[in-house]
Amino acid sequence: MNLSELTTIRVGGPAREYAVAETTEELVSLVKDADAAGTELLIVGGGSNLVVGDVGFDGLVIKVANNQFTIADDLVTVDAGVEWDSVVAQTIEAGLSGIEQLSGIPGLVGGTPIQNVGAYGALTSDTLEYVTAYDRESGAVARWLRDDLEFGNRTSIFKRNRRYVVLDVAYRLQRETMSPPLRYAALANHMNMSVTDSAPVADVRQAVIELRSMRGMVLNPDDNDTWSVGSFFVNPVVPHVPELAVDAQRWPDEHGFKLSAAWLIEHAGFPKGYGKEVGTGRATLSTKHTLALTNRGGATAQDLMVLAGHIRAGVHAKYGVTLYPECDFVNCALA
Ligand SMILES: Cc1cc2nc3c(=O)[nH]c(=O)nc-3n(C[C@H](O)[C@H](O)[C@H](O)COP(=O)(O)OP(=O)(O)OC[C@H]3O[C@@H](n4cnc5c(N)ncnc54)[C@H](O)[C@@H]3O)c2cc1C
Repeated sequence: MNLSELTTIRVGGPAREYAVAETTEELVSLVKDADAAGTELLIVGGGSNLVVGDVGFDGLVIKVANNQFTIADDLVTVDAGVEWDSVVAQTIEAGLSGIEQLSGIPGLVGGTPIQNVGAYGALTSDTLEYVTAYDRESGAVARWLRDDLEFGNRTSIFKRNRRYVVLDVAYRLQRETMSPPLRYAALANHMNMSVTDSAPVADVRQAVIELRSMRGMVLNPDDNDTWSVGSFFVNPVVPHVPELAVDAQRWPDEHGFKLSAAWLIEHAGFPKGYGKEVGTGRATLSTKHTLALTNRGGATAQDLMVLAGHIRAGVHAKYGVTLYPECDFVNCALA
């Protein structure tokens, strides 16, 4: 199996061994056996936040595919292998609110606590009640409550420390057909409403999917702008806004300001679609969003690394700000 077939950006060489874990028991036992044998391990969910090098992976790749899903009143408990967007759709159908702004995000449930997935003013940590995880060091399965997960800006204890395998996640939602106040200006504008307005939850989902599609942020096999990992870089947090970036979109942060990485990239001279002139030209910025690096067909991981390194160097040269990748790299690094 090639990792390019398991990742949304469609790069990555062969896996030495490959297994699909259809149940939680299978997942734990595959991980336990690999660790006991000293086999290198790579867990893959939807592959939507993962870039694997052209050499592939010299070990066991496990595709998470456990699939239990229960709704008990307002507590939704879902296995790591369930597609995230189907959870959003089914909870809305069941009359629940709380995750509608996270509609249309690719990947599986297990990925959501790892980088505290967020969009349109909502974060996984807003509704997450607990995570059940297998600890590869102690061999124990334990339940982690939200406050123990050290959630941050696209990060959590699970992102920083790969000893844990997420088995299932529980979310506490609201039994409501109306959303909380929309809060997020772009969403409210798109719905011709104000940020303090509420709207039917199903309408919020539809509006979010429309907005995301316009930006190439909903997977579509026929659209190369979506052959990506979504936002390639995290919005950087800086203590002071650089003089040349005073017009950048920004948000207050406890360590200063969070700047829009998309703005920095665009204003450093890299417009939408940029990249045909860099390296082989098979990897370019999305034609819809400067923060997405995309595979135009036949790109290699090396093509992506060259483009990403070039963009990062250009932003640093102009603004003195270093961009860090949001996605995970396996056997590859920025050129
Ligand atoms: C078009 C597009 C739009 C996107 N939009 C957004 C967005 O709006 N907001 C946002 O936050 N993200 C976004 N993303 C990024 C991505 O969808 C999320 O990070 C998603 O949660 C990743 O889940 P996954 O199942 O695909 O994880 P994968 O990419 O398969 O894995 C990511 C990392 O987590 C590890 N991992 C996966 N599952 C487990 C598990 N069960 N236990 C332990 N480790 C595991 C992997 O080893 C890897 O290191 C977008 C991506 C794309 C392609």
